[in-house]
Amino acid sequence: MDILDTETYCEELGDDKIIRVMKSVDSFSVDIRQLLPNGEICLTKGQTLTPSRWRILNDNIQEIDDAVKELREGKRVRKMIHLGGNVRLSVQSPYKCVNIRQFVYGENAYNKGTLIATSFGLSLKLAQWEGLKYHLASVNANLPVDVQSIVPCYMSPDHSNQMGFFECRECNPSGNLDSD
Ligand SMILES: [Zn+2]
Repeated sequence: MDILDTETYCEELGDDKIIRVMKSVDSFSVDIRQLLPNGEICLTKGQTLTPSRWRILNDNIQEIDDAVKELREGKRVRKMIHLGGNVRLSVQSPYKCVNIRQFVYGENAYNKGTLIATSFGLSLKLAQWEGLKYHLASVNANLPVDVQSIVPCYMSPDHSNQMGFFECRECNPSGNLDSD
């Protein structure tokens, strides 16, 4: 997200979170962000989603919602959706939230190869997740393009061979074919 981007849509997700559409000169992003107690936008807590990452989130709404339902029922849940690059959406019991944040691969002997949540991103309370679902159609109606016309990175033409996918750090951030 660039300082010159302009907000073309904004809706509250309940409490202290908002979702907004930011338009840049040649593209757009969907920004989910925390508000400070004084109502100002918190620049450090949030996640700006590129068109591809937003499309992938849209494609997985049902799967995420099923995980949230299981979470509410007290079941053991470990759901991880790769949105792109190091940004993932996770629903993991016992935490009653939907995380959208950056994850990195552990590099110590005890955690090598496992995904570790960083502080970059945000957690949506379950009521805020409901808010996101409630406003989804309206967010999409306010995008400069039809959401169905957005090509997720992993579907791009140059990814049709395995090498294209392998070399893409958006789709394969670890550079390891098995990890993502
Ligand atoms: Zn890719």
